[in-house]
Amino acid sequence: MKKIAVYPGSFDPVTNGHIDLIKRALRIVDELVVAVVKNPEEKPLFSVEERIDMLKEATKDLKNVKIDSFDELLVNYAKKIGAKVIIRGLRAISDFEYEFQMALMNRKLNKEIETVFMMPSAKYSYLSSSMIKEVVSFGGSLCELVPKVIEERLKEKLTK
Ligand code: ADP
Repeated sequence: MKKIAVYPGSFDPVTNGHIDLIKRALRIVDELVVAVVKNPEEKPLFSVEERIDMLKEATKDLKNVKIDSFDELLVNYAKKIGAKVIIRGLRAISDFEYEFQMALMNRKLNKEIETVFMMPSAKYSYLSSSMIKEVVSFGGSLCELVPKVIEERLKEKLTK
């Protein structure tokens, strides 16, 4: 049976840290669904459609990746698409507490679904979408921290 995993997140916007994780996950699953969370409480810079578009562009050379979005309980969405695994990234210790809580809550909601944590390459372990937005808005250069097309979209949005 095909092993399908879901990698949920805001991806506002996708960074090379996310891409690094996507590539690592593809080594252990047959299909990875990268799913943008539609969270009405967040005020994202990019719309869900824009984030999906950017993820598609950034992963166009990768096989077995699908891009989607969802606005329901993650475990329900995972079940719907046949995913038994949730992929999440762990950067610094600061990610741990929130991720730990969420993984245990998701297990309580559906014990058939496992959360798997992956660590990015050390060079991305301090990288976050919010840091990227801050750097661009103050005119800094992203030097290989996001795909080129994403850097252009960010500059358009934040500096023009
Ligand atoms: P969320 O709002 O769900 O945290 P993000 O887009 O910030 O959405 O992150 C989605 C997932 O990707 C999370 O598991 C996060 O830990 C992971 N992640 C974010 N940035 C990186 C990075 N630089 N390296 C590895 N994982 C990352």
